[in-house]
Amino acid sequence: MVGRRQVLIGAALGAFGLCFGRQSAVARETFAISHSDAEWRKLLTPDQYTVLRREGTERPFSSALLKEHRKGNFACAGCDQNAFSSTTKFDSGTGWPSFWAPLKDAVGTSTDATLGMVRTEVHCSRCGGHLGHVFDDGPKPTGHRYCMNGVAMKFHPLAG
Ligand SMILES: [Zn+2]
Repeated sequence: MVGRRQVLIGAALGAFGLCFGRQSAVARETFAISHSDAEWRKLLTPDQYTVLRREGTERPFSSALLKEHRKGNFACAGCDQNAFSSTTKFDSGTGWPSFWAPLKDAVGTSTDATLGMVRTEVHCSRCGGHLGHVFDDGPKPTGHRYCMNGVAMKFHPLAG
């Protein structure tokens, strides 16, 4: 019964998108911008820290960036490197800001086998901050769906 209960708890956590405490493979890579864990805690808000540095997932429909429809760039909230353009944003209906392509060289990926699924994790190429996951059920032209955490990004509108 314990095993079944753990499975149910795991499923519930997955459904609510909560994933705390995971030390990622990404942490073993080196990035142009790096800080100690204590420094990241000071630099980021608690929600940003949970997502960017602990691969947490924000609650769906919680990000103001879902309704951001201006032209501009969505940058990593950890280091401010632009990661996605508004020109590739689409409404996936999932409750997370979604894009069909990242900006060139802006993100890296790793394999995430937590929560009983194998997913492709997406992180900032400059600071390694976790941004979200990418799936193969996106729209044309790429067929990719970059499912991002709005709290892990900042929007920079284009002037004019
Ligand atoms: Zn970054």
